[in-house]
Amino acid sequence: MSEPIIRFDKVEKSFGAFNVLKDLDFEVAKGEKVTIIGPSGSGKSTVLRILMTLEDVTSGVVYVGGQPLWHEKKGERLVPASEAHLRKMRTQLGMVFQSFNLFPHMTVLRNLTEAPRVVLGLSKVAAKERADELLELVGLTEHAHKFPNQLSGGQQQRVGIARALAMRPKVMLFDEPTSALDPELVGEVLNVIRHLAEAHDLTMLMVTHEMRFAREISDRVCFFDQGRIREQGTPDEIFGNPKEKRTQQFLRAVT
Ligand code: ADP
Ligand code: MG
Repeated sequence: MSEPIIRFDKVEKSFGAFNVLKDLDFEVAKGEKVTIIGPSGSGKSTVLRILMTLEDVTSGVVYVGGQPLWHEKKGERLVPASEAHLRKMRTQLGMVFQSFNLFPHMTVLRNLTEAPRVVLGLSKVAAKERADELLELVGLTEHAHKFPNQLSGGQQQRVGIARALAMRPKVMLFDEPTSALDPELVGEVLNVIRHLAEAHDLTMLMVTHEMRFAREISDRVCFFDQGRIREQGTPDEIFGNPKEKRTQQFLRAVT
C-alpha cells in the first residue's frame, strides 16, 4: 500500500496533567473519507487541531504526505519544526470549523481570495477566478459582495467550505460543520460536503454527530473514546454491528 496521507505515530497529547490523546496510532489513506465519532471530550477536535498546527504534540510524530508535521528531518534525526516548515505543511490541509470562523470585516469574495493571494502568491485575477468557481460550486455566486453577517448560518458555512477549498488542499478537515446550524440549514451544508466526497482524490477527515450522513459518505468510521480509537470499521460494521460495549452505548444514546 502507498504511504498514507495522514499518519499519527504513537501520539500523546496532554494539557497539563490531563492526557487527551493516548498513544494514538491513526492513518488515513489518500482519497479516503474518514469520519470520527465519539463522546464530547474524547479528543476528536484535538486530532484535527494538531493537523492544522493549532496544537502541538506532547510526544510521537504526525506525518502528512510522508513528511513529519511537527518535526523536520535533520539527517536521520527528527527535530522540532521551524515556523517556515509548519507554514509549508499547513497549506496541504483545509479546515472547516463548527463556528465558521470567517473574516467578519471582509466580503465573501475577499474571504476566498485573501489566503490564496497572501499565502500562495496568486495574482488578483487568478484568485478571483478560483473564488468565482468555488462560489458557483457552493451556490453562492449572488452573495459574493456581502459580508458574513448578512448571510444565514448555512450560507456562512458554505463560504467556510469554499474558503478552505480555495487553497487547493490535499486534505479537508471538518469539525462538526453543521453543529452550530438551525436544523433547517443543515441539509444545504451536508449537500455541499456530499458533493465533495464524490471527488476521488480529495481526502476527507470529518468529526460529526450526523450519524446518517456519516454512514452514507464514509469509507471508514472511527469511534473515539477517552483519547483512543476504541473501535473502527466500515460504516456498516460500526453502525450496523458495533462490537464494543462503549460503541453500542454511544450509538444508542445519539441515534
Ligand atoms: P472533543 O472534540 O472530542 O469534544 P477535544 O479534542 O476538544 O474533544 O478535547 C478533549 C479534552 O481536552 C476535553 O476534555 C477538553 O476540555 C480538553 N482540552 C482541549 N483543549 C484544551 C486546552 N487548550 N487546554 C486544556 N484542556 C483542553
Ligand atoms: Mg470537538
